[in-house]
Parts: sequence; structure tokens; C-alpha cells
Amino acid sequence: MTPLARSDGVLRCGPFALDDIAARFGTPLYLYDGALLEERYRTFEAAFAGARLLVAYSVKANGNLALLNRLARLGSGADIVSGGELARALEAGIPAKRIVFAGAGKSEEELGAGLEAGIYGFNVESREELHLLERIAVRRGVRARIALRVNLDIASPTPHEYTRTGHAGTKFGVPADEIMDLYRWAASRAALRVAGIAVHIGSQIVDAEPYERAAREIFALERALSDEGIPLEYVDLGGGFGVAYGDDSEIDLARVAAAVLPAVRRRGLRLILEPGRFIVGESGTLIVRVLYVKRSGNKTFVITDGGMTELLRPSHYGGYHQVEPVRARPGAAVVVTDVVGPVCEDGDFLARDRAIELPAAGDLMVVRTAGAYGFSMASNYNSRLRPAEVLVAGGGLHLIRRRETFADLIRGERIPA
Ligand SMILES: *Cc1c(COP(=O)(O)O)cnc(C)c1O
Repeated sequence: MTPLARSDGVLRCGPFALDDIAARFGTPLYLYDGALLEERYRTFEAAFAGARLLVAYSVKANGNLALLNRLARLGSGADIVSGGELARALEAGIPAKRIVFAGAGKSEEELGAGLEAGIYGFNVESREELHLLERIAVRRGVRARIALRVNLDIASPTPHEYTRTGHAGTKFGVPADEIMDLYRWAASRAALRVAGIAVHIGSQIVDAEPYERAAREIFALERALSDEGIPLEYVDLGGGFGVAYGDDSEIDLARVAAAVLPAVRRRGLRLILEPGRFIVGESGTLIVRVLYVKRSGNKTFVITDGGMTELLRPSHYGGYHQVEPVRARPGAAVVVTDVVGPVCEDGDFLARDRAIELPAAGDLMVVRTAGAYGFSMASNYNSRLRPAEVLVAGGGLHLIRRRETFADLIRGERIPA
């Protein structure tokens, strides 16, 4: 299933032609397919059927309230990495009891907010964080449910080094030589409830093998803890499940499932998984309009009204996205072009050296598979207004975030008297 189908030469999402959508809401514009979002959630859940499963959707992939609310109604929980994401998840109707809180730099206020809300568990990433959380829990007279997010020195072959989080020498997770010690300490504290163990090895991983390794090590630790009288309720294998951006293939969830289901059943454990991109990546499309086409230094540039401020992945991670015209142009020359944005940075591009049907000024183009780490990484750099977001669902077209205005841009700024 793809969110976009071409009929009569024009791309459509459900019954809606993309040029009509763009005419109504303007560009650049994020468009989401609600049916595909739901299908992806159900596909993920089904792959792990047979486990006592909590799908903790990773809010940082895309935190729009409307999308979170749809996932909440499907039974999803949330994996959050900030107090802002906690507030977002609760506002969208995700119950606190289905929220886990990761992140190497949680502040005292954020830990307190998580306790206040009564979240399912904190994925603690360091000794100091564990000590701070314990002090806050004592002060509040509550018990904090914790898992250690462990660093097992698992290299994950992600497309970019910035998205690898599982190897030793990153800021993420408790280093291997501290794990047992910290668990023993936590188990001795009345204000802490040792509930689980967590790992997250990276993002956009399409090979199942690193998950198999992570699972082996996690279950070995779980058994060692249980043998010491520290039984766990759950294991959390994190997220990172890769999708297809082009002709490549996505992660084989059946293989990941085969590596974890027998162990969680045998050990009577709950399984938590934190997919972000897998759920929301494909359902999102960025629609941009061509402003200019120009040749410079033997290169052809298609300059659009969307760029790194709307979709940072190409610029930041070298991320690949398919680009294509909304309306087919039969007979148009296929030319190798850079599709770039209007931002004053040479690194502002959506696609580089891509053979595409050369568009003309005014044409609309789509950037596919932009639902994850698209809008959520959008910025106001160059004082650009963040785009609107639109959802196709239930046969209707819904504005789920209006385009920003100049007033939004300067809200909170003051010129001193
Ligand atoms: C980012 C993140 C995820 C989600 O990663 P995806 O690649 O979007 O699945 C899950 N867990 C943690 C702790 C994360 O930081």
C-alpha cells in the first residue's frame, strides 16, 4: 500500500487530487494518509502477536496531536524523550500507564512531571539520573518504576552515524560494566521499583541481525538479574525498525519477532517496542511547489518552496527520499537535477543528482516517505513559517495544524524599552 496513487496523470491520496489539496492549503504542505497509518500500526502489532505487547510509539518521529490520538485509539502507548512530548502524549489521549520515558538528559522537572503523571516506566540512562530520580521519588513519597536502558556495545548498520545509538562510546545507555551494580542499588531502594530492562540500538535499521544480538544479550541480563532475586516484568527492545525509502526493502519483522517471542513467553515477560518511523514514515508526504529552475556551473537546480526547514533528513543525515511531479508531464526531458530549497545554506537540499522529469516554475512535486522526522524536525530558520499539516481520513480532508503566521514567529520576543 502506498499513500499516493496516480490516476489521470495526477497523484491522489484517497479521493483527493494533490493539486486540489495544495490549492486549498498552500505549500509547502505535509499530507498524511490516516488509513495507511492505521495499517502500519496493525502490521507492526500483528508481527508480535502472541506476546503481552506494549507498542510505545516514538513521539519524536511525529508528534502531531491528531496522529497521536489516532494511534491512542488503536491502543498505542508512547515512547517519549522530553517533558514536552509527555504533555503532547497525554493531551492526545495516550494513558500515562502506556508511556515510557527515555533520554540521556532528563531534567529534574521532567523526571518530576513523569512521576506526577504516573507513567509506566523510566528508561534510566545513567547512575546520576537513577540517583536523582530516587531522590525525587522519596521527596514525593511515590515509587518510580524503572528500567535501565543498557548500552551493550551493539553496532547497528544505520545509513548515517548520527542514528547509531547502540555502540559503546555514545552518550546513550548505562555502560555494560555498571549495569548489574546499578540494578542491585535500585533494588535496595524503597522508592524505586525495578520493573524492566531497555535497549535502543539506532534508527532506520533494515537488518534483523542487530536485534537478534540485542535480544540475546537482554535476555541473558534478565536471567542473571532474576537469578540474583531481581525479577523483571518487561523487556523493551526499543525502536529503529527501518522502512523502504526507495527500491530498498524494509526490516523483516518476522525475524525480529522470532528472536524475542519465545523468550518473552518462556520468561513470562511483557514486551515493549518503540517504533516511530515504521508506523508513520510512509504515511507522510511533503508537497512543494517549484519556484524556479536554473542552470549554474553545468548543474540544473530545481528550487522549491520547501527545503531543509521543512525536511531536514537529506541535509542532516544524507537521507534519501523519492521526489516526483504531482502531475505527469508527458514528453518532459529527464534531467539530472538537484532539488533544493530557498534557505541560505548550500546544504539546503531535498534530493541531489536525481534524474527526474524536468519540472517548470509553478509545478507541484512530492517528497515521499516524509512522515517520520519530517515535521517534527522542522524549524523556523531563516524566519520561515512552519508548514501546515493535513490528514486524509474517513473520506475527509482535515487540517491538523495550520500554517504558521508572522505573529507565531515573533511570539514571545520583546524589544527592551
Ligand atoms: C528515536 C527513538 C525511537 C524510535 O526510533 P525509530 O527509528 O523512529 O523507530 C525509539 N526509542 C528511542 C529511545 C528513541 O530515541
